[in-house]
Amino acid sequence: MPELPEVETVKRGLEPVLKGQKIIRVETRRANLRFPFPADFAAMLEGATVQTLARRAKYILVDLDNGQSLIVHLGMTGRFTLLKPEGGAANLGEFYFETGAAENADGPHDHVVITLSNGLRVVYSDPRRFGMMDVTATAELHHHRLLKDIGVEPLGNGLNGAYIAEKFRDKSAPLKAALLDQTIIAGLGNIYVCEALHRAGLSPLRKAETLVKAKSYDPRIDVLVRHIKDILNEAIDAGGSTLQDFVGADGEKGSYQQRFSAYDQEGQACDTAGCAGQIKRVVQSGRSTFYCSVCQK
Ligand SMILES: [Zn+2]
Repeated sequence: MPELPEVETVKRGLEPVLKGQKIIRVETRRANLRFPFPADFAAMLEGATVQTLARRAKYILVDLDNGQSLIVHLGMTGRFTLLKPEGGAANLGEFYFETGAAENADGPHDHVVITLSNGLRVVYSDPRRFGMMDVTATAELHHHRLLKDIGVEPLGNGLNGAYIAEKFRDKSAPLKAALLDQTIIAGLGNIYVCEALHRAGLSPLRKAETLVKAKSYDPRIDVLVRHIKDILNEAIDAGGSTLQDFVGADGEKGSYQQRFSAYDQEGQACDTAGCAGQIKRVVQSGRSTFYCSVCQK
């Protein structure tokens, strides 16, 4: 499943290609992905020019000059492929992808084809169809049903020690579950929570509220916040973690997965300096947690 760093990587790949381009044609090959496309989906996009791209949680937001925004979620297996115009030679940057399943944009999983004014076609493919697309007024974007209740961006200034301490006060849920709560931090997934907790030396099993005192909080919250940001930025720099079906907008696989210290490392020696422990796997809320019980307290 694409995690936040992969979504950011895709957004950064699409941005130079889409920005400033007029959308000439939008073709949907089926009535729905995870949700039905809006009835006037193509009409709301065609003729508009792309102004900016942004990411909120794991949603890609494409603002258009007609006051509308396209919202995209990649689900489990969504990806974009950029196809050159027939015989075209325009220099459109390094994000072409000329081979693969969507080569001719006529594969069984090629569900949306967007033709731009430069002749480039942007193909959305999604074998499992857990992705989604919607269009809403840009001014109403943050009231959209999928965006209105999500928490702060982990890479933004909104995520800091004081914010976490306030949210964790009186929260008896395990620390890991609290960090995965999307109404507290938006778009932070299982992999990065396991990694950040390992680096911070904090047990995923301890109650979140145990880090908060009456009028202050455990300084390890600040350490944890720094590790969350560092780990996400490292993964973005590496092009995302690339699990299974995912490749970036440029078709290149990311390389972050080789560098996990805890996630998916069950039975491996802990790589914390001076620690003789081993990475264990436990199940919390139906999901695997990887941690070292020796150095994570
Ligand atoms: Zn350890």
